[in-house]
Amino acid sequence: MAKSVLSEKHFHDEAAAYRFVEKRVWPDGPVCPHCGGVERISKMKGTSTRIGAYKCYQCRKPFTVKVGTVFEASHVKLHLWLQAIFLMSSSKKGISSQQLHRTLGVTVKTAWFMSHRIREAMRSGDLSPMGGEGKTLKPTRPITVLSPNASPLSSAVAGPSPRRVASLASAVSGLSWPWSSVAATSGHSMSPMQAK
Ligand SMILES: [Zn+2]
Repeated sequence: MAKSVLSEKHFHDEAAAYRFVEKRVWPDGPVCPHCGGVERISKMKGTSTRIGAYKCYQCRKPFTVKVGTVFEASHVKLHLWLQAIFLMSSSKKGISSQQLHRTLGVTVKTAWFMSHRIREAMRSGDLSPMGGEGKTLKPTRPITVLSPNASPLSSAVAGPSPRRVASLASAVSGLSWPWSSVAATSGHSMSPMQAK
């Protein structure tokens, strides 16, 4: 029997979810979102270390793949984000935040926040939620970054506003989601520290 898409590990396992996103955001290996460094980066180890934590020894700052993406400044587990993205991109009519709230078991507020972020990213990626039946998704290209103030989200985010709503580009098989744009490709001003 064919394996259900929903049984994929990255929808259930946080470490797998990080690996899944890292592979797409950093196809050539980790990039420091603070200074753009690529060489002196180590994965942080140890039992108390957050999943997906890296340290850049060029600027000495820690980061995860969430920095500079739609997942930034959110405490929602990454595998839940992937579930949300899947739900939102696999339903032709989209899915309401109420439905997201019931399906994912997150609060109404969180569901609202997630669906806004995801929609925003989809829009800036210039993609219809489905990519359209039988249509090809647009190829990778740089995408506009929204300033935090331009987004109604900023008021919903506790703590630092996202430096940018991720730009998203090429779609990924399995998830009709333009991953490559999540990558922080330009500017070094996205440190969440600077928003404090
Ligand atoms: Zn750095």
